[in-house]
Amino acid sequence: MRRPPSGDAVSADLIERLNAALRDVPDFPKPGITFKDITPLLGDAASFRDAVAGMVVPWADAGVTHVAGIESRGFILAAPVALALGASFIPIRKPGKLPWRCAGVDYALEYGSDRLEMHIDACPASARVLLVDDVLATGGTALAAATLIERQGGAVVGLSFLLTICALGGAARLGDLVIHSLLQV
Ligand code: AMP
Repeated sequence: MRRPPSGDAVSADLIERLNAALRDVPDFPKPGITFKDITPLLGDAASFRDAVAGMVVPWADAGVTHVAGIESRGFILAAPVALALGASFIPIRKPGKLPWRCAGVDYALEYGSDRLEMHIDACPASARVLLVDDVLATGGTALAAATLIERQGGAVVGLSFLLTICALGGAARLGDLVIHSLLQV
C-alpha cells in the first residue's frame, strides 16, 4: 500500500475514540459476515466531525479537484470531505440509479457480480480525483470505482477510507494506488 504524502496526522486518542464508536454486527447481511456499522460514529457529532477531518488531512495538499463517493455509505463521508477540500463531488452508483448517460464497470463479487456507474460528463479530463468509501474489505468495489474514473479520463490521486478490514487483503488488490485509511482492524 502506498500512503499519501501528508501521512497520518491524527492522535492515538482520537483513533481509539473513533474505533470505540464503531459497532460490530455479527451475521449481517448474511451468516459469517461481521458488519462494521458506522452509524454510532455518525450519530455522535464530535466523532463524525473528527472522522471527516482525519480523512481530509492527508489530502490537503494533493491538488484534489473532485471527490468521488461510492454508494451508499461512501456518500455520507465523501460529501463533507469534498467540501473541506474545496472539491467537486462525483456520485458513483449502483446500476440504474443515475438519470443521465452513464459509463459503467462490472466487477466480480465472491458470489456473482456487480456494477458501478457514473455520468459520462462527471469527470473532466483534467480531474484529479480522490475516491472515498466507508470500508475497504476485499477491494473489489474500490478497484472498480478507480477503473471507472480512469476510463473517463480522470487521474486517481488516491483512495480514502474510514476503515480497512486488513485481513481481507483489499490494499494489496489496489496495487500501486495511494491509500489512506483512518482506522484499521
Ligand atoms: P469490498 O469490495 O469487498 O472491498 O467491499 C467494500 C464495500 O462493501 C464498501 O462499500 C463497504 O461499505 C461494504 N462492506 C464490505 N464489507 C463490509 C463490512 N464487513 N462491514 C461494512 N461494510 C462492508
